[in-house]
Amino acid sequence: MRLANVEGRASIAAGQGWADVATASGGRFGPSLPAVYEEWDDFSSWAPTAMIARAAVEVDEHQLGAPSPAPRQVFGIGLNYRAHAQESGVAPPERPATFTKFPSCITGPFADVVLPAGGTTDWEVELVVVIGRVARTVTRDAGWSCVAGVTVGQDLSERGLQFAAGGQFSLGKSYPGFGPTGPWLVTADELADADDLELGCSIDGEVVQRARTGDLIFSVPALIEELSAVLPLLPGDLIFTGTPSGVGMARRPARFLAPGEAIESWVEGVGTMRTRIVGDPPVG
Ligand code: ZN
Repeated sequence: MRLANVEGRASIAAGQGWADVATASGGRFGPSLPAVYEEWDDFSSWAPTAMIARAAVEVDEHQLGAPSPAPRQVFGIGLNYRAHAQESGVAPPERPATFTKFPSCITGPFADVVLPAGGTTDWEVELVVVIGRVARTVTRDAGWSCVAGVTVGQDLSERGLQFAAGGQFSLGKSYPGFGPTGPWLVTADELADADDLELGCSIDGEVVQRARTGDLIFSVPALIEELSAVLPLLPGDLIFTGTPSGVGMARRPARFLAPGEAIESWVEGVGTMRTRIVGDPPVG
């Protein structure tokens, strides 16, 4: 199943279009995305049986919002690919290196993102997991059963602030718009192998990152085991699972994002999102 946020309303893919969940279910599910994740088990049993093809409409990409627009918790995982740990000059961690992206940074798949002052904003394409069920002390064999689906994300990072004062990861990765996600959520059963997907991103057409999630040091189920051992994961929560090698700060010379550039980010079997980087809006 594919689930999108169409102007704030949950919609499922049907034929060439998208069907509004609240309308198709006679008000049983939705209309908001958080309401759907809250009842994910019932919703995901209903969706495949729903007769929705005729109710589907075409949707323009600019109508699409974040698949989980109001998560209560957003986890980021650092250094979760060996080649990225190496380019960062640190040893691969023995436990997931976890930080938060504050939820107000979450934005949609075709958003404009205003560059903050600092001039060291970097890209990080990632597989993003959306939680579909309260998960507390879940073992890794049950990890995927707590996942509603996956989507594409950019963990945009202002490096100057990220590494200031002993490490300010959570702030440096939480400017407005620093969490683009989308273009929609795809359930794991639609993917050939949910544990091994190609992902990548390009800037103005130049591919800068390309890897496979099979190279994750901590896989999706391992992350759910580790995180849920500490605190409950809640429906609609996001896990940014980590970025592969190829970020701008590791280049010599370093390269950072500039106004006017466009990042395309993709995950195999999920889709592609496009984020436009813009300068300061005019004052007054
Ligand atoms: Zn990241």
